[in-house]
Amino acid sequence: MNEETNKKEISAIKGTKDILPQEARYWQVAEATARQIFELYGYRELRAPVIEPTELFEKGTGASSDIVTKEMYTFVDKGGRSITLRPEYTPSVVRAIIEHRLDLQPQPLRFYYIGPMFRYDKPQKGRYRQFHQIDIEVFGEKDPAVDAEIVEMAHHLLKKLGVEKVETLVNSVGCKKCRPAYGQALRQAARAVKDRLCPDCQRKAEINPLRIFDCKVETCREAAATFPLITEYLCEECRTHFEQFRSYLDFYGINYRIDPTLVRGLDYYTKTAFEIVTEHLGAQNAICGGGRYDDMVKEFGGPDLCGIGFAMGVERLLSVARITTPKESFVYIAYLGEEAKKKSLATAREWRQKGVECLVEFKDRNMKAHFSRANKIGADWVLIIGENELARGLFQLKDMNNSQQYEGTNEELLKIVKQKGKQDAST
Ligand SMILES: [Zn+2]
Ligand SMILES: [Zn+2]
Repeated sequence: MNEETNKKEISAIKGTKDILPQEARYWQVAEATARQIFELYGYRELRAPVIEPTELFEKGTGASSDIVTKEMYTFVDKGGRSITLRPEYTPSVVRAIIEHRLDLQPQPLRFYYIGPMFRYDKPQKGRYRQFHQIDIEVFGEKDPAVDAEIVEMAHHLLKKLGVEKVETLVNSVGCKKCRPAYGQALRQAARAVKDRLCPDCQRKAEINPLRIFDCKVETCREAAATFPLITEYLCEECRTHFEQFRSYLDFYGINYRIDPTLVRGLDYYTKTAFEIVTEHLGAQNAICGGGRYDDMVKEFGGPDLCGIGFAMGVERLLSVARITTPKESFVYIAYLGEEAKKKSLATAREWRQKGVECLVEFKDRNMKAHFSRANKIGADWVLIIGENELARGLFQLKDMNNSQQYEGTNEELLKIVKQKGKQDAST
C-alpha cells in the first residue's frame, strides 16, 4: 500500500450507517419493548446466522421476486460456496425448524428476532442496504384467530412505542387451489394492457402478474386499477378464513380496510396478508407487513407445517415512534492526589457492583476543574475524595441537580444515591 492510499479516509459502505450512542438509546428502548411484548404472548427468540447458502433464498423468496433477481448481497467464499447476506428472515427460520426438527415440539411454535437484513437496493432517503427488522413467526396454527392475534400484538407494540395514526390494511391472497384461476384471469387482463406497462411489469405480466399491484409507476397503477380482484376468486376455505380473521379483528376492536390489491412482495404467501401503515411515512408508508405462508415449510422439504408472521422495519418504526429514553444518572468521582485516586477506583468498583454508574477520570485536576468537568458531562452527583476526606473516612457528595451537599461514610452516601435513583425511577 502506498502512502496516498494509507492516508485516504475510510468511510462506511454506501447504504449503511453508524448508529451512534445517542441514537442507539432509542434503538435499545424499541428493541427491549418489542422483546418484552412478544414474550408476553409466548414468543421466544431464535437467532439465525446473518449468512446463509444462496439457494435458501432462491428457494424461499421465489426466483421471480425482485429480492432474488436484483437485490441480494451474494458472494463466493474462499471455499467456493455461494453465500448470501440474508435479505429477509423467514427462510432462515424455516431452515432452522427443519434442521433441528423443531416441528416435533408442541405447536404452535412462536419465534421472534431483531437484527440486520441486507438488500443491494438503490440507497435512498430512509432506505439502507443494511437495514433492521423486528420479525415474528408462528408455525403450526391454522386458526384465523392467530392471524388476528399477531395483528393485535403489532398494534400493542406500536401503541407502546407511541406510533399514532395507523391504519390496518388486510387482504387474502388465496391458496394453491384458488390462486391459479385468478392468476389466469389476471394474466389475461395484464396482457391486454401490456404495452402500457413499464418494462419491469411487462416481465411480471408473464411470470407473476400479482406483483404489478406493487409497482409505483403511474401508468402501471392506472392499468392495475382495471384488473380483476383476488377477493372475487377465493375458494370456500380461503373465503371462510378471511371472514373469520376479520371477525376476530372486529372482536379486538381493530379498525381495518380491505385492500384487494395488497399482495405481499414475496411469492410464498397464502391466505392472510396485511400491512399496518401510518400517514406520517408518505408513499413508503408501511410500518409492518405480514402474512400467512402455509406451504413454505413443505416446499422447503420439511413437514406440512403452516406459518404466519410479520416484519417491522426498525428504521421506519423509529422515524415515527415517540420514545422517551430513560434518564441516565451517574456519579463523577473527584479526587486529589495518588492515594485518593486509588480510593476512588476502589469506591467506583464497589458502587458499580451495587448497580451505580460511576466515572473516574485519569487526568490531574484541581477541585474546581473536576466540578466544571462533571458539569460539562452532565453528572448527577460528584463524590469528593480528597486528603481531608481520606483522613477522616467521611466523604462529600454533591447533588448536581440542586446543589445539596451531604457528608458521610461510603455506605451512607451510596444509600443516598440509590435512594434518589429509586425516586427518580418512580416519577
Ligand atoms: Zn383458496
Ligand atoms: Zn410497472
